Amino acid sequence: MTPTSAATSLRHEEAVRRAAQLVVESMQIELDLTAPTEPTFGSRTTIRFASTDATGTFVEFRGQRVTTLELNGAPLDPASWDGSRITLTGLQRYNTLVVAGEMAYSNDGEGLHRHVDPQDGQTYLYAMSFLDAAPRWFACFDQPDLKSRYRFTIRGPADWTVIGNGPTVAAGDGVWTIAPPHPLSTYFVTLVAGRYYSVTAEHDGIRLGLHARASLRDQLRAEAPDLVEVTSQCLDYYHRVFDRRYPFGEYHQAFVPDFNAGAMENPGCVTLRDGMIFRGRATNADRASRAAVVAHEMAHMWFGDLVSMRWWDDLWLNESFAEYLGQRCVGEATIYRRWNDFGIVRKDWGSVADQSPSTHPVASNGAADAASALQDFDGISYAKGAAVLQQLAAYAGDPAFFGGLNAYFDRFAFGNAAFADLVDAWRGAGVPQLGRWADAWLRTAGMDRIEVSQAGGSSVITKTGHSPSRTHALTIGSVDPSGAVTVLEEVQLGDEPLVITPPAGSRLVLPDATNATWAKIRCGAWTDVGAVLPKIRDDNALVVIVNGIRDAVREASLAPAAALDLLLATVPGVPSEVVVAQLFGFVTNQLSGPYCPSDQRSARLARVHAAALDLLASSEAGSDPQLTAFRAVIRSSVDWSVLRDWWSGRQLPDGIDLDPEITWALVERLAVLGDAGPIDETLVSDPTASARTHAARARAALPTTDAKAAAWALIMQPSEVPAHEVYAACEGFFQPSQTDLTAAYVPRYFREIGSTDSFRSGWVLGRVALLAYPSTAASPDTLALAERTLTSDLSPLLRRPVVDATDQLRRAVTSLARYSPTIGTRFEPIGP
Ligand SMILES: [Zn+2]
Repeated sequence: MTPTSAATSLRHEEAVRRAAQLVVESMQIELDLTAPTEPTFGSRTTIRFASTDATGTFVEFRGQRVTTLELNGAPLDPASWDGSRITLTGLQRYNTLVVAGEMAYSNDGEGLHRHVDPQDGQTYLYAMSFLDAAPRWFACFDQPDLKSRYRFTIRGPADWTVIGNGPTVAAGDGVWTIAPPHPLSTYFVTLVAGRYYSVTAEHDGIRLGLHARASLRDQLRAEAPDLVEVTSQCLDYYHRVFDRRYPFGEYHQAFVPDFNAGAMENPGCVTLRDGMIFRGRATNADRASRAAVVAHEMAHMWFGDLVSMRWWDDLWLNESFAEYLGQRCVGEATIYRRWNDFGIVRKDWGSVADQSPSTHPVASNGAADAASALQDFDGISYAKGAAVLQQLAAYAGDPAFFGGLNAYFDRFAFGNAAFADLVDAWRGAGVPQLGRWADAWLRTAGMDRIEVSQAGGSSVITKTGHSPSRTHALTIGSVDPSGAVTVLEEVQLGDEPLVITPPAGSRLVLPDATNATWAKIRCGAWTDVGAVLPKIRDDNALVVIVNGIRDAVREASLAPAAALDLLLATVPGVPSEVVVAQLFGFVTNQLSGPYCPSDQRSARLARVHAAALDLLASSEAGSDPQLTAFRAVIRSSVDWSVLRDWWSGRQLPDGIDLDPEITWALVERLAVLGDAGPIDETLVSDPTASARTHAARARAALPTTDAKAAAWALIMQPSEVPAHEVYAACEGFFQPSQTDLTAAYVPRYFREIGSTDSFRSGWVLGRVALLAYPSTAASPDTLALAERTLTSDLSPLLRRPVVDATDQLRRAVTSLARYSPTIGTRFEPIGP
């Protein structure tokens, strides 16, 4: 039988019943990977477990074929397996279950994923069990609160590297055993196997490993010093703030191909997307962003792995903490500064999610089944949750905040807990009135709005928002005409407006000068903002104002053309590259895309390009700002001959090297302009997996009917093509400058996307739906199609991305109706 996306998703009540009935003592897993090019591998699992009663239960197994099915030595009826679950009856007090069969290697990044490196033909495997994919590679009781001890025996080619959640012991002749030192939840059990290239080190008695495909060997060696240093600094940080040392023995980080998430916190063996082993020159901001991922995953070793959630409704406990502590750790323990990036990238992501119709509270979402929990794995669980914890740390103070956490780790180490357990631990550590605080911040969805208005010589700061009411810990700042930011006072802003008398010469009052809360921030009239914004050099203040501008565009209370003026005037003075990169992303992809009438897009893009060229000209050769500017120049260019010259290595600005990433950025832009030639030519000199992904994006972007038809087939039909190439085709397909050519595909998207759940599942299903959405076709007609689609029967994993993307589309259409009314006026503005 073949598992499909219809595989039964575990319901919460089933998990509760099974956890009350069973204790899983040990899992012994034998994998036969000796024929890694075959479609399937052999998997044999022996589970020893106790049951409190003889009533039946079930175990998950999503293989292709069962060869052995035995409970306590007696064969089970093969019909007890329905392709997804095996029904178990006649249980004894202590039981031994053996399930063996053939399981399929996957190509969607879940289960046991197989990647064949196009460069050297080597096969690389890694296992991704999150969220409910463990039964795709071994039989198990797949829920977070049935932890067990594990022992693996792996058979494979003798020249492989094999790593997992514990030290690997090589028995010789291609046989390895791995025995993780502590009980594990199924969702973070992993295996990484193949001819991976490794760099090892040691820090504070902990063995560190870095691994990547052999074809990335040189890049891994180049990046290893920074990775080892950051990893060591993060370990030291967590050892300082937590009472317990890192508990899982060795600490491996495997940079693996075709990975869907940024990284996965498997205890002792984190898997990360291999794009983090940079193939081109990286900026300090790129390294800072990678450091945040390293710190985030390591925080999970305590939060998630040492103490795991009981059920998926507490997924936020994992992600909000890892996000918050990861940012703090990087900022306090490494050379990288992270709160900027958190403010401009992550908080904006969360803000969009928190204003979508799909918004939900940070906590207590009561996921009815495992699959629906996956949908709340969003900007709210990460960024809003982290911002809320930042507020809690400010409210409780560090001693009580970390005191509560340490008590929680002590009490639940190697077990499971729920939100209420953590609240108890904080209460025990002396945090007052936590129930009210948690109701307002964690159990209530949406954002408050904090704004400044003028009354005589005073500034009045008011908060409007939700019930129960939130109190915000804020630093009020003032900006003078030279752009200098000064702190006025630290306040607790509740329902009572706050009256501030700004100092003489103040031009703007900033209600959240350190970007410490979770709210929509408005600083007053846009003319006042525009007078000082280009002169502000304080990162936090800049980020707060820029986020307010993006938010105001999305709520149709600020004209996109005015926002463009404001942001382009600001770019030259912005000190942080990550902010510059985000500004260029917004003005290129949004203000010159969906938020611009089609006939004005090229004119707007020309202004963006001119600003990028100015920044390039004023940047020092070889500097990070120069590289950031050059990337923006490429993405906004319509000058075929200049791009072609650069791609050929001619006339490049002094300080810019034609590394693989720059080369492909040029190829992709040339493709948008209609030049297909460089795609195949570049693939010849760069025959890598990464290059294939770039090529897929470039081909989908070509402005020809044939190219669009081929890309569409990749997006909407089943194939063996790696998921990342499909994502790239989605990204390349709808270009702001090609709306006429792709017009026929807009209704097709809405007609066809619903049936992609017949051949995709999990992450890939929703991600393709989101990335392929025709957001550049911002018109009332597209919106009508989208709304009609949402009334139809869509799988939940498809509905969520379509709801969210439609909300963004509606915002663009509303803005166009308000500020460029020729396209139609039947939509009422959303805000202010
Ligand atoms: Zn995480």
